[in-house]
Amino acid sequence: MLITKSQLVNKPEKLRPHIVILGSGASVAAFPSGDANGRKLPTMDNLVEILDLKPILKRGEIEYKNCNFEDIYSRLYKINPKSPLLKEIEGIVYNYFNSLQLPDVPTLYDHILMSLRPKDIVATFNWDPFLFDAWNRTKDIVPIPEIIHLHGNVRVAHCLEHPAYGGHGMICPKCKRKLIPTRLLYPITIKNYSKDTFIKTEWEVLKRSLRDALTLTIFGYGAPHSDKEAVDLMNTAWSKQNRFIERVEVIDTKEKDVLLSQWAPFIIRTYFDYSANFYQSRIAKYPRRTCEALINQTVYALPVEENYLSPDADFDKLLSWVKPLIEAEKTLGINDAFSTENLGNSGS
Ligand SMILES: [Zn+2]
Repeated sequence: MLITKSQLVNKPEKLRPHIVILGSGASVAAFPSGDANGRKLPTMDNLVEILDLKPILKRGEIEYKNCNFEDIYSRLYKINPKSPLLKEIEGIVYNYFNSLQLPDVPTLYDHILMSLRPKDIVATFNWDPFLFDAWNRTKDIVPIPEIIHLHGNVRVAHCLEHPAYGGHGMICPKCKRKLIPTRLLYPITIKNYSKDTFIKTEWEVLKRSLRDALTLTIFGYGAPHSDKEAVDLMNTAWSKQNRFIERVEVIDTKEKDVLLSQWAPFIIRTYFDYSANFYQSRIAKYPRRTCEALINQTVYALPVEENYLSPDADFDKLLSWVKPLIEAEKTLGINDAFSTENLGNSGS
């Protein structure tokens, strides 16, 4: 017996969340030609070149060749956390990421969000605005997951004293003060996950969701040595020893063996999926039904027909494609606030 595409689409169930973690590799894969204006997306390894920081580092006589940007920043911070050079670099980094613009056409980030449900979570380590902007343009049209920011982000502002955050220009509902931009850069040696009010709240949401999760996808996150604390926090919340059928999926261009050993502390039995390309991942194969597919495959040992989204579809086509999925989800009673009138005519 096979679970057909139509059965999968038409029989959504109330299941536990699918958590997706995005690292810098995800943004690089999503925006291979850069932003709407062709501005390149840097990683920690090439940030000095792309943001043209060499002249400033030379001026400060700072060694930068073959150095990861986070290491350079930590070194500078150690010398003098209040130095004008450090402030200048922080300003350049913030302004660069803040200036990035999401292309007008659907992007991989739109595809990820539309392929998941409000019960799921997409968490990003990235400073760039693409996930936030993709979420913002779709959230009132399609029921999509909440997003959380595990480091600072250029689109998000927060209150230093209260767990309140939102867009720039917004006011803290508690103290009525204007929210301030989240900080992007932290020296590696200073752990911030429990100190910074914004990041602390975001991590609490992630830990709670991870404890409950049925599927975990790690996309383009290299788990750098500088961020061991992040991986430890995730691992404790995921708590492998209490799990039987949950699945870990890694989307990454590294060799499978490397990824298997890197993520072994998270993998239950042999339940590991790997793909170098998002469009071959479980999210793209079983959009909005990843957990239903998993239960059928793992608990009932049934094959499940795939329901690939079209990576080249424009917004109208994407919305028509997603409409029958959302219509079927109405039986779950969680999308009631959503009207599918704006989604065009469905193809099925
Ligand atoms: Zn406040």
